[in-house]
Amino acid sequence: MQLTKKYKIHPTELQKNMLWELSNACTYLYNIALSERKDIWKYDKKSISYTKQQNNLPQIKEENPDINILYSKTCQMVLRKLDANYKSFFGLRKNGDKKARTPRFRSRKYFFTITYNQSGFKVVGNTIRFSHKMNNEDLIIDIEQDISNLKIKQIEIFNEDKKGNGDFFVTITYEPEINVPYVQNNHFQAIDLGITKTITAINDKGKFFEINNPRYDLYWDSKISAVQSRRDHCKKYSKKWFRLNKTIRTMVKKKNNQIKDWQHKLSKSMVENTKANTIIVGELNVKNMGKSKSRSLNRSTQNNGYLSRFIEFLTYKAELIGKQVVKIDERYTSKSCYVCGKQHDMPLYRRDMTCDCGNVIDRDRNSAINIMIRYLSNYATWTGYEHFAHNLRQTGLLTFDVSQIHPMNDITTRRNLHA
Ligand SMILES: [Zn+2]
Repeated sequence: MQLTKKYKIHPTELQKNMLWELSNACTYLYNIALSERKDIWKYDKKSISYTKQQNNLPQIKEENPDINILYSKTCQMVLRKLDANYKSFFGLRKNGDKKARTPRFRSRKYFFTITYNQSGFKVVGNTIRFSHKMNNEDLIIDIEQDISNLKIKQIEIFNEDKKGNGDFFVTITYEPEINVPYVQNNHFQAIDLGITKTITAINDKGKFFEINNPRYDLYWDSKISAVQSRRDHCKKYSKKWFRLNKTIRTMVKKKNNQIKDWQHKLSKSMVENTKANTIIVGELNVKNMGKSKSRSLNRSTQNNGYLSRFIEFLTYKAELIGKQVVKIDERYTSKSCYVCGKQHDMPLYRRDMTCDCGNVIDRDRNSAINIMIRYLSNYATWTGYEHFAHNLRQTGLLTFDVSQIHPMNDITTRRNLHA
C-alpha cells in the first residue's frame, strides 16, 4: 500500500526560478521524445517503446545539454508520463473513441510536474534536499512537517495552477508501516453506498448503521451555477469575467475540500467503530458511465467518483488497523428482494421495496443485506452465513423465516441451506 501527503511550499524567488528551469527542461525532454515518437510513426509506421526511449536518454542528453540539469530518474519519469499518455490514447481509440487525439506538444508556459522516484532527494527533519546541483546552487525545500520517519517512495513538485500562477505543492508518496496483521474474526460489516445520499451498513448481528451525507455538492452547485451564469453574461476575458471566474474556481475548490474532509472523517470513524475485521462494499461500475454526454449522467459520474474515493479511504484506513475491505460485485443487490430473491424494478425515487413475499424494506437496507449475503454465501464459511441469518432473526429488526433466504446466484449454497 502507498499513501500520499500533500504540502504547500513557499519557495523563494530564487527557488521559483530553479523550479521553472527544471520544469522547462522536463517540457523540453517531453517534446523531444514526443517528436521522436511522431516521426517514427510518420516515416516507418512503427511505435517506439518506453524502454527504447529510456535507453536513448544518454544520447538525447548529449545532443541537448539543457536537459542535463535534470536528475536521471526525473528524466525517466518524463518519458513514463509520455508513455502513459500514449497508452491512454491507444486505450480510448480501442474503445472506439474517435475524438481521442495523440498526445500534444507541451508549452513552456505550463509548469511540468517534477518527479523524483525512489532517489534524488534526502530528507532531514522537515527539509528536502535534492541531490543534484543547479548552477552550483542546492535546491532545498522546507515543508511544514517532519517527514524523516516516512518510507518515502516518490516526491513530486507541482503547481496547483496549470500555468504556474498558483501555489507550489510537494506530494510525498510513502509506504506506511502496518503493525497489525489482518485476522478474519468472524465479524462482518456490509456497506451499501447509496447513489443519492445515504450510507447504509449492516453488521453480522443485523444491526443497521445509517448516515445521511451532508449535501455540500447541492449547497455549492446552486451557488456555483448562479455565478457561472453571471460570468457568462459578461464579455469574455474582461476584468469582471476573470474576477467571477476566479470566484467559481474558489467555490469549486471549497466544495471539493469539504466533501473530501467529510469522507476522511466518516471512513475513519466507520472502520474504527466496528468490531468487524472484514468490511464488504459493493463494487461500483464506474467505467461504463463515463462516456455519455448528458448532464445528469455526468453528474452521477462525478458522484461515482466521490464514492470510489470513499472506498479508497475506507480501504487504506482499514488496512492501517489490521482490517480489510472486500469489494464485491453489487449487481442486482438493490433489485432483488433479500428474502425470496424476486427481482423488482427499483427506479431511484422508490425508497422502499414491497415484495409479494410480504417483505417491505427500505431499499438501501435491502441492498446492504444482499451485499452481506452475497459475500457470506460465496466467500465465507458456512457457519458465518448461518450465524448472520440467525442474528438477523434474533434482533427482531427483520422478521423472516431463515429457510427462505435466497442466496443470490449461488445454487449450491441454496441447496445446503434447505438441507
Ligand atoms: Zn420477496
